[in-house]
Amino acid sequence: MARRMVMAPKKCTGCTSCSLTCAITYNNEFDLKKSHVQVKKNDLDGTFNIIFSSTCLSCGKCAEVCPSGCLSIIDSGNGGK
Ligand code: SF4
Ligand code: SF4
Repeated sequence: MARRMVMAPKKCTGCTSCSLTCAITYNNEFDLKKSHVQVKKNDLDGTFNIIFSSTCLSCGKCAEVCPSGCLSIIDSGNGGK
């Protein structure tokens, strides 16, 4: 069954746990640039943008480690119908 990530960006603290977890899991490197998700601070208002790459596997590992409940993964079920 297809799954997709759901975000609540207002909850994001910018801790980058999600990004590091992905980078270590899939590239075996402690390098944020090697992650399928990037967290970027908006300097205007201090909020964070969470950007998933097209290569994201929707595995949910980043959501599992997010301490703020900002990320979750849901079954997209019948293809959005
Ligand atoms: S869902 Fe999986 S592949 Fe996608 S960013 Fe999160 S840990 Fe990486
Ligand atoms: S783990 Fe959650 S709170 Fe931390 S940067 Fe990622 S989305 Fe934001």
